[in-house]
Amino acid sequence: MSLNLDDYAAYLFDLDGTLWTGSELYDGAFDLMQCLAEAGKRCVIVSNNSVLTGDQARAVLAERGLAGEPLAVTVVDVAGEYVGRLLGADAGRVRVAGAPLLAERCRAAGLETVDLGEPEQADVVLLGLHDSFAYQSLERLAACVEKGERLVVTNEDPWHPGPNGARVPETGALLAGVRAVYPCDYLTVGKPEPLLFDRALELAGVAASEALMVGDSLYTDVAGARRAGIDSVWISFGRSLPQRACGSPSAVYESLSELAAELAAQGRGAGAAASRSGRMVSR
Ligand SMILES: [Mg+2]
Repeated sequence: MSLNLDDYAAYLFDLDGTLWTGSELYDGAFDLMQCLAEAGKRCVIVSNNSVLTGDQARAVLAERGLAGEPLAVTVVDVAGEYVGRLLGADAGRVRVAGAPLLAERCRAAGLETVDLGEPEQADVVLLGLHDSFAYQSLERLAACVEKGERLVVTNEDPWHPGPNGARVPETGALLAGVRAVYPCDYLTVGKPEPLLFDRALELAGVAASEALMVGDSLYTDVAGARRAGIDSVWISFGRSLPQRACGSPSAVYESLSELAAELAAQGRGAGAAASRSGRMVSR
């Protein structure tokens, strides 16, 4: 399968570890967005970031001069909807162990919330990344799950790449801690589950077959997109595609710069096929 710019009306992008490190844009991000904007493509950021809303993510990227003003949706935006569906018509109470914004969004979705430390029984405990997570948080979370509160996590990512390649611990690391204390099943709001992809497609106003997902995670971005019926590009940053990759990308590029160069070449119609540098993956 070859990757042609005009095959897709919309481009979906992962945020952390793909477009930016948490403090700066990756090389090629600006050029890529510029190229897509000039080609009239719709761009939507689809992020498991559990401390920023889509609007906040947009603002952060706009401050850094990212072209094209991409739309954005994060797991914060959809967590209330997810838990509301899970609880169904009976409503119920959700304990939020995450950033204050996460609880705010759950209340905005009509849910009753309680804090991690409150004694009332809840139906669901929603875990998201928060930098005030402490030993007592772990102790309390495990106790709530043991008492029958259903564990839902914003995302399973154990970490994402930060500035200078440093690993930034993510919600999945907190989840692993809880399950080490009290092994239990859990549900996931964000990628690779379909809800975020569905909302991103709605924002873009396209069908799954008209969109291409670009991300650095074979699990959340590539396998998640495939489950949603969306083609994908894996940005490898020099990593080899595992023989038994959990996802199957349509194409692999080492960097955003490499992808931007190919798309720019196609946009100019200048022998794009001959200049392709990305590795196409047959499926
Ligand atoms: Mg990522």
